Amino acid sequence: MKLQDKVALVTGAASGIGKEIAIKYAQEGARVVIADMNKTAAEATAAELRKAGHQAMSVAMDVTSEEQVNAGVAEVVAAWKTVDVLVSNAGVQIVHPIEEFPFSEWKKMLAIHLDGAFLTTKAVIPLMYAQKSGSIILMGSVHSKLASVLKAPYVTAKHGLLGLARVLAKEGGPHGVRANVICPGFVRTPLVEKQIPEQAATLKISEEDVIKKVMLKDTVDGEFTTVDDVAEVALLFAAFPSNALTGQSLIVSHGWAME
Ligand code: NAD
Repeated sequence: MKLQDKVALVTGAASGIGKEIAIKYAQEGARVVIADMNKTAAEATAAELRKAGHQAMSVAMDVTSEEQVNAGVAEVVAAWKTVDVLVSNAGVQIVHPIEEFPFSEWKKMLAIHLDGAFLTTKAVIPLMYAQKSGSIILMGSVHSKLASVLKAPYVTAKHGLLGLARVLAKEGGPHGVRANVICPGFVRTPLVEKQIPEQAATLKISEEDVIKKVMLKDTVDGEFTTVDDVAEVALLFAAFPSNALTGQSLIVSHGWAME
């Protein structure tokens, strides 16, 4: 068991990638916190894990609210005393061409992806510094490295997470705290299912073409990345035994982006 008794808080863990990471961590012995703004779905995921014999709790948390983030982390501390692993994963997608992008939606995207990462990190870092260990994982994207049309705030925010992780790695290093970014290609979660018809309408092409000619066009094999692929990388970053692996970003995308 690679994460025996570690406390892992995963945001956006009621669905998709975050949920799979929580399951994988629980299977490796971690006590997992399902943090999500969708409290009902978060509790359903936590209950599912407990039923399978794991330790799991849910907390309601909109990651854009400092008050809710701090209250959620306080609940975890009351129950389990600390946080050893943070996965800042909550995210949404909104697509428009720049000239049509409502400013309110631009700000919402930056708030969820960037403020969310900052606020959750800020809330758990004193706990990690006090115990001289911790792993912070930010959910980037291939869009942390490359750009696509229609995704201005998403690409901007995902690039920004690389900078945050590098600062965190430098500040956290002397305290035994590591920070890394996972950069997945397209994964068929609700976030992506929603984009397929939207992009088909905006680009005036079929949904099949959105998948083949837009989303998977540059992969080596035309395959989607899976939630399990991403969870394996999340396990690697969480369980790595030393400070050697910090300030990095790892692309898991069927070769869509290579570096
Ligand atoms: P998803 O829609 O399946 O799950 C996202 C979860 O985040 C949901 O449970 C939702 O309730 C929660 N959430 C949204 N806004 C929130 C907020 N303000 N506070 C708290 N919770 C909130 O999406 P997913 O595909 O699993 O995406 C998870 C992360 O992975 C996102 O950061 C996304 O950008 C990133 N990502 C996804 C893909 C992909 O292809 N699916 C690729 C690269 C990166």
